[in-house]
Amino acid sequence: MTVKSARELDLMRRAGRVVAQVKADLKSAIRPGVRTGDLDRMAEERIRQLGATPSFKGYAGAGATPFPSTICVSVNEEIVHGIPGDRALEEGDIVSVDVGAVVEGFHGDSAFTMSVGETSEEAARLIKATREALAVGIAQATAGARIGDISAAVQAHAEGLGYSVVRQYVGHGIGRDLHEDPQVPNYGVPGRGPLLRESMTLAIEPMLNVGGWETVQMDDGWTVTTADGSLSAHFEDTIAITKSGAEVLTALNGVRGD
Ligand code: MG
Ligand code: MG
Repeated sequence: MTVKSARELDLMRRAGRVVAQVKADLKSAIRPGVRTGDLDRMAEERIRQLGATPSFKGYAGAGATPFPSTICVSVNEEIVHGIPGDRALEEGDIVSVDVGAVVEGFHGDSAFTMSVGETSEEAARLIKATREALAVGIAQATAGARIGDISAAVQAHAEGLGYSVVRQYVGHGIGRDLHEDPQVPNYGVPGRGPLLRESMTLAIEPMLNVGGWETVQMDDGWTVTTADGSLSAHFEDTIAITKSGAEVLTALNGVRGD
């Protein structure tokens, strides 16, 4: 499990602040014509400038190929783990960016989705619903609650608005490892699953699709898309459970996901 000491929490706050700063920089750089690889270079430079190291670069997950980049950039029907490159963002796209940074061995992990210029009403609604799903999940993350309370709240919010939640990829404990126990699914039953305790650190990360929840992995070994080609959005924050609820470690204001 992923309960942290006071010193470990402080390092995670530092990692979280780096991630929050890099997210803010990326948001102001995202516009039509920007190449996803440019965003990646900007993020890596900024992470290192802030005294941290990218968490994802070289990460070897379940796949055989280590992840080659600092950030994941997933456009439109891409859900997560998109590899930045020559693709130029276009007006009307929606783009999900996932950022991870490590400070003295402890990770922060956070993602956001935004529109590139003006987008459709459908896309804007999806983004709003996914941001809200993260907030309702975080609101359940209190000492004495269970993982299933987070999962069920995210699922109810998403499905209540007509979206599906991705099943195959889930949130997670986080700390010295980018992915620790327990898993934090975006679907589940209230009152079930591991008990949440003070000083536990979690990455909560709803992924919502306009269509079905089924996913496909591209043959680059990483990029995951919706099976039906529908739009997808992703928000994530790293949080610590405190006596008085969740502290958001990857937000500049410390209180909410954005
Ligand atoms: Mg992430
Ligand atoms: Mg994560």
